[in-house]
Amino acid sequence: MRLTILGSGTNVHPTRAASGYLVRTDQTLLLDFGPRTLMNLLKAGANRHRITHILFSHFHADHFSDFITFFFDAVIYAKYGGGHRPDMTLIGPRGLKRLLGTVMATFPSFSRPPFRVAFKEVTDRRFAIGDTLITPRTMTHVPDLHCVGYRIEYRGKTMAYSGDTQYCDNLVCLCRDVDVALLDCSFPANKPGPAHLHAGQCGLVAKEGGVDRLVLSHFYPIAERYDVRAQAGEEFDGSIMVGTDLLTIKV
Ligand SMILES: [Zn+2]
Ligand SMILES: [Zn+2]
Repeated sequence: MRLTILGSGTNVHPTRAASGYLVRTDQTLLLDFGPRTLMNLLKAGANRHRITHILFSHFHADHFSDFITFFFDAVIYAKYGGGHRPDMTLIGPRGLKRLLGTVMATFPSFSRPPFRVAFKEVTDRRFAIGDTLITPRTMTHVPDLHCVGYRIEYRGKTMAYSGDTQYCDNLVCLCRDVDVALLDCSFPANKPGPAHLHAGQCGLVAKEGGVDRLVLSHFYPIAERYDVRAQAGEEFDGSIMVGTDLLTIKV
């Protein structure tokens, strides 16, 4: 399994794209699709027309806005580009069908695309895409919005992606004994903010979950001004990486 960070920042970060990750197993999967991550998907050398499953953690705009651009391109390619576009499955928390159904019905050229689009709203139950096993788990981010993290297993290796979350027991469970935990590190430990983890909590989750390698991502600009790696390291003595756009990690 290979993980490529397409976006390690947030909506208006000056140097990082917002949330998005490419996961390659027997499948080519996307985890979230925030602003500017489509450009990094192209830079990463992935064939966007072969992406069949997109998994959303939640529908804050920094996690799905580039899907609009991606989907429009997919329709144009399949209609006029002379290429085959396989069917697409969009996976995410409660509210996915309503939101993306509205997008499909409203945006010009989005309805009746020349390929099938399926919607899957997840519960906390495991499912398979080919030989890749996916376990969603409900996170605690903001009230009144269903947010999930994903645990992904393939050929004996496991990674966890937190999406956006505060510290919670479900997050520690999601990360239990994983090879790589990719966590929301919006804030430095000395400047915590609402609705997200800070660097010290990322380290704590990694320690409590028995994680092998911790990857920090989803940085607000303020996180750049402090040594978040050292802050996470005060709790967790395993390997810690500070995520950057286009970094690829072998899981
Ligand atoms: Zn969010
Ligand atoms: Zn976010």
